[in-house]
Amino acid sequence: MQAAQFFDSTLLKKYNTNGPRYTSYPTALEFHEQFSHENLVQAIVASPNRELSLYVHIPFCHSLCYYCACNKVVTRHRDKADIYLEFLAQEIASRAPLFKDYTVKQLHWGGGTPSFLRHEQISQLVAELKAQFTFAAQVEMSIEIDPREIEMNLADHLYSLGFNRLSIGVQDIDEKVQQSINRVQSTEFIEKFIAHAKQVGFKAINIDLIYGLPHQTIETFTRTLNKAHEMDVDRISLFSYAHIPSRFAAQRKLKDEWLPSADEKFSLMKLAIEKLCNFGYDFIGMDHFAKPEDELSIAQKSGDLHRNFQGYTTKGSCDLLGLGVSSISAIGHSFSQNTKVLQNYYQAIETQVHAQVKGVSLSQDDIIRGEVIRELMCNLYVDKNKISQKFAINFDEYFAEDLPLLQTFINDGLIMVTINEIRVEQKARLLIRNICMSFDAYMKQNLNQQRFSQVI
Ligand code: SF4
Repeated sequence: MQAAQFFDSTLLKKYNTNGPRYTSYPTALEFHEQFSHENLVQAIVASPNRELSLYVHIPFCHSLCYYCACNKVVTRHRDKADIYLEFLAQEIASRAPLFKDYTVKQLHWGGGTPSFLRHEQISQLVAELKAQFTFAAQVEMSIEIDPREIEMNLADHLYSLGFNRLSIGVQDIDEKVQQSINRVQSTEFIEKFIAHAKQVGFKAINIDLIYGLPHQTIETFTRTLNKAHEMDVDRISLFSYAHIPSRFAAQRKLKDEWLPSADEKFSLMKLAIEKLCNFGYDFIGMDHFAKPEDELSIAQKSGDLHRNFQGYTTKGSCDLLGLGVSSISAIGHSFSQNTKVLQNYYQAIETQVHAQVKGVSLSQDDIIRGEVIRELMCNLYVDKNKISQKFAINFDEYFAEDLPLLQTFINDGLIMVTINEIRVEQKARLLIRNICMSFDAYMKQNLNQQRFSQVI
């Protein structure tokens, strides 16, 4: 894949504004407390899907990474997880009967740090999930790993339980960068762990990298990218560090003068994309890279890529059930979220056996716009006739107020709009969030864009 096609520095800078990542449409800002448990039950009954993706949130971390914007609880006490798992078991037991006629095709554990759990806690949680839900024989089971404070045999243990995908937080291998973000970890261990996991049988391993961190330079990040290449993983997620200290207190530890300038950050991103493409990875969506034979890459080529709260996925026909504090569900035409506060989660499970606090039922307009935005985010392409037929509308008439907003992108050669289609040029891939915003009805209702991160 030629990386040069993704860049037009002038245009990238021109459109580098704040925007949603569109893991859902409407975004989580539209969730409200009037969405009740009964609304969720109605959404399950009405959903055309009978395949399920499960997301389990484990909120604990051993120590605080200063760049972090996740929902987590930092503690050295592993026993805290015992209490959490008790409440999680209650939530699982109360939710599972609602999904009796579903088959679980995908299970993902995120956090926080799922690898915070001891081996026996991991076994117990897997057993509970398998006892309560019906799992497909070929289920995809993935887990996020913090490579600090784990033993090599974690890979053996996870594999024996059915996990077949690992996602490992590498971020940056430079010592000065690691110290500044309070995430010092051994690259040597990570390399050995990945090699061992492959030997054990894991066929799909992802690593996360972040650009825009303190003290990162072209030289240091080149070393990180070269090392990522040596690790020879199937997927690489490349995230932009979003510095919003007003919202995330830990980020106040990162001094402004340590951070790369906007130009330097842009160069780091460019470097990463160029190198990853040169290493042979396909650029997926706006921030993922996958080997050409990986299913994400195959799905992108065939136009079957989907997007949910965990990012890009091939499991578009699944409803998503989130379990645990702060987790989000996408069931039929609804989104819903559990409370983000751990004590509230415990209290809610104790009193009402579920911890859902907000959500939204999608209107027909949300569904139509959501489909257009998802097509753009995943496949950089909208077949107007397909949308018109599917929703019994005339695309151009329906979006008569939105389509003129695309004119600026047309003028800059970023998209092509014809009678039948909207086609996004490769050089607009990094700006896809901006293009999607043209179809976002809530944006037009004076949504505060500053609550979203910058697109680059
Ligand atoms: S980056 Fe991961 S390990 Fe670090 S504090 Fe955030 S959730 Fe925890």
